[in-house]
Amino acid sequence: MCGIVGIVDAGGVSIQLYYALYALQHRGQESAGISTFDGTSLRKFKGQGLVADVFSPAVLKDLKGTAGVGHVRYPTTGSNLPENIQPLNFQFQEHFISVAHNGNLVNTCDIRREYEQAGQIFTTTTDTEIIAKILIQEISTSGSVEDAVQLCMKRMQGSYSVVIMIDGVIYAFRDPLGIKPFCLGKIEHGYIVASESVAIDALGGKFLRDIRPGELIRMDGDGVKCTQIAVAGRCAHCIFEYIYFARADAVIDGVLVYDVRRTIGQKLHEEAPVSADSVCSVPDSGTAYAIGYAERSRIPFVESLMKNRYMGRTFIMPTQKERERAVRIKLNPIPAHLKDKSIVLVDDSIVRGTTSKRIIEMMRDAGAQEIHMRIGSPAIKAPCYLGVDMPTRKELIASDKIEEEVRRSITATSLHHISLDALVKAIGFDREDLCTGCLTGCYPLLIDGETANPRLVNFVDVTFQSRLESFEAETT
Ligand code: 5GP
Ligand code: MG
Repeated sequence: MCGIVGIVDAGGVSIQLYYALYALQHRGQESAGISTFDGTSLRKFKGQGLVADVFSPAVLKDLKGTAGVGHVRYPTTGSNLPENIQPLNFQFQEHFISVAHNGNLVNTCDIRREYEQAGQIFTTTTDTEIIAKILIQEISTSGSVEDAVQLCMKRMQGSYSVVIMIDGVIYAFRDPLGIKPFCLGKIEHGYIVASESVAIDALGGKFLRDIRPGELIRMDGDGVKCTQIAVAGRCAHCIFEYIYFARADAVIDGVLVYDVRRTIGQKLHEEAPVSADSVCSVPDSGTAYAIGYAERSRIPFVESLMKNRYMGRTFIMPTQKERERAVRIKLNPIPAHLKDKSIVLVDDSIVRGTTSKRIIEMMRDAGAQEIHMRIGSPAIKAPCYLGVDMPTRKELIASDKIEEEVRRSITATSLHHISLDALVKAIGFDREDLCTGCLTGCYPLLIDGETANPRLVNFVDVTFQSRLESFEAETT
């Protein structure tokens, strides 16, 4: 999982890229990078750590140019190599190319092998480099970026929202199933594409619309053009964006994430009512859910766990031991709110179960009598291959346990996960238009070693436009 942004602005882009990445920081804390085009060549800077740590005013000043792309990277196993930090930059003939990608390709090995057999070399272990290779291969023969993006969409299986800069022109495209979010906005003197609308908000810009699945956007000083490269029979928007990943104030594919979570909180009470003294969230990811629960149950919302906001997400820690210690530093219980009380504890998801168990222990140590855990997602049963760094089945606590076993393992008084039906209803799309792979084990694409739901897979019929026509995009 990552965050991406691309900006064209006659007045310079580095500061705006910086603030856009800042707004997308929750999508990745491992590394950050910016590339700009100064009219003759690329200016670039990237490093490990948070946006605020990687870039200094001097660095931003040096990132001159009226177009640029940026990336924040989420750690995935084995990826923590300096050469994998994005954007990836290339020079090809007289062209300067920079690529940033959010998502995950599932057929990288095949494509990579093919290129290697043809004598090509790779300098990273990321699938993003494959995207660049396919693009450059086609651009070098046909010279058409539209054709190159179509070739990408034909060859690549998986999730990809991609922003590329070629000699100061920004191109952005989204996979035909629209798995990862991607949107377009207007800023004072230019345009922006970004993973989430919150990046547009941060710049005081105007959200224009989501980039359509299978669409290519081209932006430069003259404006914005769009081309529908491919059309799929349905979408497969990532359900986990709504559950956990996106910021609550983001609007993704027309749906405000906060409201989804709040509605699920209300439904959690309807599905599993309980009497208690207070509703408490596991901040921040559980808060919108807890507020919905409190509203519907009329049990007061009382914060009883305080979050230290200056820590990254605990999941990020590579080892189990570090993660456990981090929970304690990150969340501090308030004994006066917990002593002898019965608490409804609301969180977005249980993945490994470690955090939940530690939190419940801490709350009991602080005097809580009963802890009724309510979870805003159905049980997570299967890994994600399409961009969320979900652990293997072995590490997923619910992959082989029923709810009662999970309850016992995390030592909650009671436990309830929202039903998939209620979750889908709260988002408001047809279930067929959502990827629910992590909850059901049925993926919208064929994945080696996984049983895809044949009905769904057959249904995804991607057709490619034979004549690629560009249109002025709606920009008002
Ligand atoms: P667990 O109980 O599974 O150890 O942890 C659950 C917590 O992890 C929840 O509070 C949830 O917000 C958080 N979480 C779920 N998925 C992810 C993820 O992909 N990344 C991060 N950083 N945290 C996650
Ligand atoms: Mg959380």
